Amino acid sequence: MQNQAHVESWYAASVLPMADFPSLQGEQVADVCVIGGGYTGLSTAIHLRQLGYSVTVLEANKVGWGASGRNGGHVGTGQRADQDQLEKLVGMEHAKALWDLGLEAVDTVCQLIEQHAIQCELKHGNLHVASKAKEAPGLEEEVEHLSNVYGYQQIRYVDPVELGEMTSGQGFHGGTLDSGCRHLHPLKYAQGLARVARESGATIYEGSRVLSYSEGEKVTVKTDQGVVSARYLVLACNGYLEKLEPRTAGRIMPINNYMLATEPLPEELARSLIRDDSSMSDSLFVIDYWKLSQDNRLLFGGGESYSRRFPADMGAFVRKYMLRIYPELANTRIDYGWGGTLAITMNRMPDFGRLSASVFYAHGYSGHGVPIATLAGKLLAEVISGSAERFDVMASVPSQTFPGGTLLRWPGLVAGMLFYSLRDRLG
Ligand SMILES: Cc1cc2nc3c(=O)[nH]c(=O)nc-3n(C[C@H](O)[C@H](O)[C@H](O)COP(=O)(O)OP(=O)(O)OC[C@H]3O[C@@H](n4cnc5c(N)ncnc54)[C@H](O)[C@@H]3O)c2cc1C
Repeated sequence: MQNQAHVESWYAASVLPMADFPSLQGEQVADVCVIGGGYTGLSTAIHLRQLGYSVTVLEANKVGWGASGRNGGHVGTGQRADQDQLEKLVGMEHAKALWDLGLEAVDTVCQLIEQHAIQCELKHGNLHVASKAKEAPGLEEEVEHLSNVYGYQQIRYVDPVELGEMTSGQGFHGGTLDSGCRHLHPLKYAQGLARVARESGATIYEGSRVLSYSEGEKVTVKTDQGVVSARYLVLACNGYLEKLEPRTAGRIMPINNYMLATEPLPEELARSLIRDDSSMSDSLFVIDYWKLSQDNRLLFGGGESYSRRFPADMGAFVRKYMLRIYPELANTRIDYGWGGTLAITMNRMPDFGRLSASVFYAHGYSGHGVPIATLAGKLLAEVISGSAERFDVMASVPSQTFPGGTLLRWPGLVAGMLFYSLRDRLG
């Protein structure tokens, strides 16, 4: 199904209207065809244009219609998996290269925003809190480890007393403040990337769902009303890939995550929730994440589901997670509730790869895609232009397929997720 409108959300309600891109009609030729108009696809287009390639982006709905226009807007440092986990998985040298790429990802987001004057409310800092007392020592160790082994000085431990001065949130046992993190308005960022891609000469089509593609001398990509033939193809569909490419599908799992926006809060109340206007996140397996909007709404994300269907009242679905942390918001109106689909992997590291000499993909950012999907675009452009080294730092992280493969992964995933979310609740 093609949908030329964004889902209803506070993000969609607070962006400036942007003219639609046309849909693909007839035949087009490009060096590279990119399927998907989120951060991965748009960043790929921008970086390929910098290298002189002609690019056509095909988006089934609108640019930023997927997770890129609906997410929490947190731009975290490093990778989604912790460094000590990565050290065990791939060794110290490779883990350091991944850390460096994680920092480069945040820099790439910031540079794109600055160089192209993308107005997307970019701010600094994330306050991450321990939801269980036994996790606090681990946070202190992490700060030391990042300082001693990676030379990273922008993160510090926050003890429970200081934390109590920084937020009125309940149930926290210490935290870390990482001033290298950023946060932003995700749909404004996605629309900004689309503008930059268009101005740099990429051709973007909306309302153009790819139905199939085939490889011969060239790659032939078909929508219901047109065809693109290209030397290279990039799959940038993430949680919405569905059946387009079954060869990668077993390594990612689409899951749904939800957000709400409250009514605008009085300044004093807003500051008591998050004193310094950082973003915040907790340590639960089904993570809660939140921040304030420009107009002092609390934008709160929490709760997941694993089937195609979204809850009927998504605001009410998320509200219970918000009230666990901020019971003082019991009488606050919820103005918007929405959900989106993202792709996760077994080890929570993204899945980058190639299916042939002409077909490349990156997806499965597991909730860390604002920076890493932006970086993916840069690395996809590099590998297409013949420099595979940095792309392969990401692509060579061992990945596992979900038990049950493409067909039977749901029951195992749902059982596993429910087990961990139960553990969140039991403490
Ligand atoms: C509620 C929520 C909160 C999140 N919070 C955060 C956060 O705070 N920080 C963070 O780093 N990450 C977060 N994420 C994850 C992040 O949003 C994603 O990792 C990132 O946006 C992925 O970008 P993408 O371009 O790969 O995919 P998407 O933005 O999902 O884009 C894929 C696009 O492909 C298009 N498409 C699919 N199939 C076809 C086809 N056949 N033909 C043409 N087009 C097609 C879709 O329409 C879609 O627009 C969150 C995700 C959700 C859902």
